[in-house]
Amino acid sequence: MTYRHLGSSGLKISALSFGAWVTFGKQVGDPVAEKLLHTAYDAGVNFFDNAEAYADGQAETVMGAILKASGWRRSSYLVSSKAFFGYEDEKPNQTGLSRKHLVEACHAALRRLQVDYLDLYYCHRPDPETPVEETCNAMSDLVTQGKVLYWGTSEWSAAQIKAAFNVCDHLGLHHPVVEQPQYNLFHRTRVEREYGPLYLGRRMGTTTWSPLASGLLTGKYNAGVPAGSRLATPGMEWLQELILKQPGIERKIAAVPALAAIAAELGTSLPRLAIAWCLKNPHVSSVILGASRPEQLTENFGALDLLPHLTSEVMGRIDRISLLVAE
Ligand code: NDP
Repeated sequence: MTYRHLGSSGLKISALSFGAWVTFGKQVGDPVAEKLLHTAYDAGVNFFDNAEAYADGQAETVMGAILKASGWRRSSYLVSSKAFFGYEDEKPNQTGLSRKHLVEACHAALRRLQVDYLDLYYCHRPDPETPVEETCNAMSDLVTQGKVLYWGTSEWSAAQIKAAFNVCDHLGLHHPVVEQPQYNLFHRTRVEREYGPLYLGRRMGTTTWSPLASGLLTGKYNAGVPAGSRLATPGMEWLQELILKQPGIERKIAAVPALAAIAAELGTSLPRLAIAWCLKNPHVSSVILGASRPEQLTENFGALDLLPHLTSEVMGRIDRISLLVAE
């Protein structure tokens, strides 16, 4: 494993990390979740990503029990939560980025994860109904109180992140250090273009999600939805709709064999190529992997060895395919 600094912070994060979305507490049973987390930790992964909304809090409960039983030193790993979507009922203050929800969601995540502090705490989406000053003050207070070590955003626009930095500068608050955006061969514009000034001016870090576009970039959906896959999982119809009915999906699926051919030429697999391509971007601090089986994780860690083989010539060939279909 290799480690990168998380943006301007002193924190070292593994280049590959592991997240619990739609798997823990949902798609996989607890024994598999335990194997996955141990496989990741044993490979040197030091960041485990989670959120209040994942399996309605259950993903954090499952992860918390595994962390507690593991015997791992708390100093040896980073764990996150994210707030915004809520998970309880539909009451007015159970979602969003108000001080009330951010503080209550943080306390609930600490209880479920069975830890004394969150290493990273994200605002899971922007909240147009809450003044950014209130959100920044609440996140900064949680840092000052030691309940959160670093805070960040997820899927905020560059303008929204810049506004948060400016508020923090003006009020002398702890500023965000990380954004968590989607980044893969089919979804790249925001990370590569829109956020450009934030890397230079603010040295913002990124922990990027869905490196395999939920599995599209494995080739498994080239000819329909195979049994046992994420999109075939009962209860995941909403995600199947989101992924397989997205604009330009036919062109994306048609691009997969050409990408797989480059992987084959390099003697590797398409998932490894797709993950290594994300890592090649120096503004990516950590690529968050998802997996439903330990063997997938083991395969995907091989992306690290592929990095030196992604020469500018190979990157150019990948670009010529990806840029035609990517958002
Ligand atoms: P990916 O796009 O990499 O998808 C992971 C899924 O692809 C696995 O669960 C598995 O699904 C399949 N897969 C993985 N490796 C292989 C392989 N080698 N061969 C075949 N299939 C494979 O990542 P995720 O979408 O899971 O995102 C990663 C993490 O990012 C999440 O867990 C979460 O922590 C974070 N995230 C954050 C979001 C945000 O808004 N901030 C949004 C979404 C995710 P299967 O076997 O079931 O088909």
